[in-house]
Amino acid sequence: GSRIGIIGGGQLGRMLALAAARLGYRCHIYAPEASGPAADVSASWTQGAYEDADALAAFAATVDVLTYEFENVPVAPVKLLASRLHPNPIALEVAQDRLAEKDFVAGLNLRPAPYRAVDDLEGLRAAIADLGAPAILKTRRFGYDGKGQARIASPADAEAAWAAIGSRPAVLEGFVRFDREFSIIAVRGIDGAFATWDAPDNVHENGILALSTVPAGPLVQAQVEEAVAMTRRVAEALDYVGVLAVEYFATAGGPVFNEMAPRVHNSGHWTIEGAVTCQFENHIRAICGLPLGSTALAAPRVEMRNLIGAEADDWPAILADPTAHLHLYGKGAPRPGRKMGHVTRLLAG
Ligand code: ATP
Ligand code: MG
Ligand code: MG
Repeated sequence: GSRIGIIGGGQLGRMLALAAARLGYRCHIYAPEASGPAADVSASWTQGAYEDADALAAFAATVDVLTYEFENVPVAPVKLLASRLHPNPIALEVAQDRLAEKDFVAGLNLRPAPYRAVDDLEGLRAAIADLGAPAILKTRRFGYDGKGQARIASPADAEAAWAAIGSRPAVLEGFVRFDREFSIIAVRGIDGAFATWDAPDNVHENGILALSTVPAGPLVQAQVEEAVAMTRRVAEALDYVGVLAVEYFATAGGPVFNEMAPRVHNSGHWTIEGAVTCQFENHIRAICGLPLGSTALAAPRVEMRNLIGAEADDWPAILADPTAHLHLYGKGAPRPGRKMGHVTRLLAG
């Protein structure tokens, strides 16, 4: 088929549609907003609620294959589209709920941060008693860029933390003492072919990814092989098709699973210029049943910096740098904490 349906219309949809176009595919967007970053570069935009099973089914009937760029799509309506939806609804269901995700990963004998389910304030107190402080309380659903999280320094913080996350179902995580953070960006084809890119070393500022660098330093490199094996276990257990990203903490005891995203990932944006085949193209190849492209590095060193909030205004200076590739997402007015674009620099070493 040659018509790809994307559920969600943000910058990830935009970059997927751009990559798909190079391969001759046209992307059709389904999203609840009237427009978004993917609109400029896609063949059509259907406005509809994610919960609207009938509207989604009607949209699905107009395309050959379906994917999503946003993992908070409700599972029930997309289950009906399952045979043509990649990654499959089980991957979506696991990855959109931190508790389900951690249970799944623990069930594979991988290594999540220590965690407890929290359903109310009493449960939070018990979980703190169990795991100790410091700890981090995270909502089970809808968290991103550090939103829906509260740090707990001591048991006395329980009530304030519970209120801060909106008294919603949550997980408490023990605070992980890590040396570095990194991610494994993997892709798995319909035939089970599996590949990963070089693991980026990721630096977060205020809970938001700020910088990804490849190759990562020696501390991360020493843990990449194990983290790739862990990521592969996850992908195979889910019979996953497409790009899968897993964030890890590099600790003295080896890689600790932080969280996964059932989609292309911000820490993989460097692959657009920095790898032979980028994460977006390989996602399209995977869901269309095509052979995967090489994930090899295209430069000795690659650095990707997010443009967050007003920083996006500096673009003329960025364009003056011959090593820089500027990406702006067409989001309009910058707001504090909003990802407006990114810059990738290809460096000599
Ligand atoms: P994303 O935008 O990556 O989806 P998110 O809101 O889902 O972010 P997490 O990845 O869970 O958030 O956490 C954000 C950051 O907070 C992590 O990258 C890490 O720096 C820190 N952090 C999260 N959990 C822990 C933990 N258990 N121990 C120590 N630091 C943590
Ligand atoms: Mg997350
Ligand atoms: Mg994260």
